[in-house]
Amino acid sequence: MNVEQDIAKLRRLNSVVTGPLKLIISEVLAITPLVIDWINVQTSGSAVCRYKPDNVRQYEVRYQFGNIGNLVHELTHVAVNESYNLDFINYSNRASIDLPDRELDILGRCKNEDLRQTKQMSQSMNTTKSDILMRIKGWTDASTELSQIQKSEISNKLIYGMINPHKEADTVLNQILVWLFEWGFPITGQYINKPIVNALYEELSSAVKAAHLERLNCRRHNNIRAA
Ligand SMILES: [Zn+2]
Repeated sequence: MNVEQDIAKLRRLNSVVTGPLKLIISEVLAITPLVIDWINVQTSGSAVCRYKPDNVRQYEVRYQFGNIGNLVHELTHVAVNESYNLDFINYSNRASIDLPDRELDILGRCKNEDLRQTKQMSQSMNTTKSDILMRIKGWTDASTELSQIQKSEISNKLIYGMINPHKEADTVLNQILVWLFEWGFPITGQYINKPIVNALYEELSSAVKAAHLERLNCRRHNNIRAA
């Protein structure tokens, strides 16, 4: 598997899915031209911004080649940074903050990002994001149609998001929606009682859509301001 094949797979997925999943796949596909360096890793992944003169931003993305959920996760980091421009924080913050200037390395990568994130994050927004993740975890735990392995994979991802909601809320929600689709959910066809996993899929979809619209609105706002 290589990057071109993975992006082709994302394009195919984009042409068959509907709803919020389509919104986020389109969103991450649109920002792939900003990625100038793709690096294959065995576990985890990351998205790092290279800040260039004249407000130009380019990205290096590490992900597990062949793993579409992982790819969407890392590209969501890029989409978040392009929307809020707050050092990868997953929401906007209009408070005036006394912020140290970025210290950049030779490639334009920020060396004091952690400090800037800490200064720019909002406790109330962290709680809001965590509450969303917690609600999705509740539906996951209740979903009798998921296997134990699927449940624990989703739960671990949600817990990861709750530990750092300012950085990993939108990313894990998008990744889990991709997983559910890849696993064949929601359940279609006739049923007497609505499958709980379908309720999970719907709840997750609306959380994903709300976060997507927030990013979109903020991106528009920034573009208008810059024009
Ligand atoms: Zn992440």
